[in-house]
Amino acid sequence: MKHLIAAATVAGFLLAGAPAPAGEYDCDVAVIGGGSGGFGAALAAARLGLDVVLVEKADRLGGSSVRGGVNCWEPGIGGTGIPFDLFKELKRQPNAVSIYSFGRHGGTFDPKRETFRYPGGETVSDPTRRYFDTLERHVPPGQKATRAYRGEHWHGVPFEPEAMAKTMRAMLDATGRCRVLLNTAFVAADASEGRIRSIQLSNGTRLCARYFVDSTGDGAVCAAAGCRMMFGQESRERFNEPDAPETATQRVNGVTLIYRATPVKKPCIEPLPEGIPAKCWWRKSFVGAHVNHYPNGDLNINMLPTMEGEEFMRLGYTAALAECRRRVRAHWHDWQTRIEEFRGYRLSWIAPALGVRESRRVVGEYVLTENDLLAGLSGQKHADIICLADHMMDTHGGHSKHRGELTEPYGVPYRCLIPKGFRNLLVACRAASFSSVAASSCRLSRTMMQLGQAAGTAAALAKELNMDLPAVPADRLRAALRQQHVQLEHPMPDMLRSHVEKE
Ligand SMILES: Cc1cc2nc3c(=O)[nH]c(=O)nc-3n(C[C@H](O)[C@H](O)[C@H](O)COP(=O)(O)OP(=O)(O)OC[C@H]3O[C@@H](n4cnc5c(N)ncnc54)[C@H](O)[C@@H]3O)c2cc1C
Repeated sequence: MKHLIAAATVAGFLLAGAPAPAGEYDCDVAVIGGGSGGFGAALAAARLGLDVVLVEKADRLGGSSVRGGVNCWEPGIGGTGIPFDLFKELKRQPNAVSIYSFGRHGGTFDPKRETFRYPGGETVSDPTRRYFDTLERHVPPGQKATRAYRGEHWHGVPFEPEAMAKTMRAMLDATGRCRVLLNTAFVAADASEGRIRSIQLSNGTRLCARYFVDSTGDGAVCAAAGCRMMFGQESRERFNEPDAPETATQRVNGVTLIYRATPVKKPCIEPLPEGIPAKCWWRKSFVGAHVNHYPNGDLNINMLPTMEGEEFMRLGYTAALAECRRRVRAHWHDWQTRIEEFRGYRLSWIAPALGVRESRRVVGEYVLTENDLLAGLSGQKHADIICLADHMMDTHGGHSKHRGELTEPYGVPYRCLIPKGFRNLLVACRAASFSSVAASSCRLSRTMMQLGQAAGTAAALAKELNMDLPAVPADRLRAALRQQHVQLEHPMPDMLRSHVEKE
């Protein structure tokens, strides 16, 4: 990797004792944002021989999966490439990862077997299950997602966030070609005529690259470069989506501040901090939550949601985080007060970052819509599908609409990663080119990692073939992804199945 620090600035740094030298980095591909998408992009590109710089504004990798506390990969197709490699690395460490099955659920309360109605849903580690069992969510025609079906078919991957962050870092370091800049934010882009020339970082340096990947979650690089963006719900007419509202709105999926509870020897109700009401003040009653057990048995509590998306946008990030911290304390107090079982735990951690499910999205060369999800792989005609997904459309908050499970997987075309009109920029995160309805299904962590894997692979091919990113031949990209054990067909081909079964 070429790493150039401007001599004059270094001299200035030495003479003046300034905290950080201004200078310039140069690399093949700059990935901005070190969450699931950014990790996938940086790892794929570095493994394929590119010099990579990964820029992350936080103090560790993992994004929503680590600092947002989203400690699990939900059941879903397509976790066979980099996500599976990551799983295998985690599995070598004690209590870093497990496989879950569904436990109790308030909606299927059985008074003969359970002493109370669980205030949401619960998943528990299940040592009888394997990674392969986690790779399907859709419910084929003729079947229903009953309690029995979920118990038999739906399994996810809970993990310990710190282990996730460290393992991501170790895998990137092992390539020897990825320079990770933590505590460093993207600030501005120098872009014109569909091309980014360089970006400005918060440490005063300029980062030049042949290719850029925006994995900031909210498309910060794309927006700064002048890409067309979407926000809120699109009207039904815009993409002809049956479940979109009649007219466009500014509504977005709700946000959640995830928290953790740890078992204690002496059960008690923890006191509420002063100034926080015991009664719910932000809606009629306290929300239900989804609870995943961590591999060590702690509880990961995901309120559905902690705050409406519109309120989050109105308050702004800092005020919303402060308000959500108050709501978390009230929520936990309510659970401990009403349900004896939770007195055996203490609130041990509140995620340092809000879990944001949806923000602005890029208008790409293709926009994935509800019609793709409903058509499924058998009905889609795209030649450039680079990953599969099968999660239901899933919105939390006042405008939530239960659309039921998908009946087959669908594919995401490479063009969803290409901001319209741009030549050297890809977007590999939840801000990719999805309609609001499609994003509610597509945003899962493993799907984002797959987008990243495709983006990093496309950059490597573009360099090899000396071309711009939109020109990368779809058949070459798909072939390169298959070589990396990415699932592009359903049912899973036998060769791939035997690879994943060798866990
Ligand atoms: C509450 C909640 C629960 C969820 N539950 C599940 C679940 O159970 N299973 C599942 O699979 N998915 C779940 N999801 C979805 C999934 O976690 C996210 O959609 C996914 O992790 C997003 O990945 P990403 O790479 O797009 O963004 P992120 O993981 O958010 O990464 C973006 C990264 O970019 C960095 N960044 C942002 N701006 C800058 C900048 N200017 N400069 C440098 N870096 C920057 C951020 O710090 C962050 O690290 C959930 C999401 C939420 C919010």
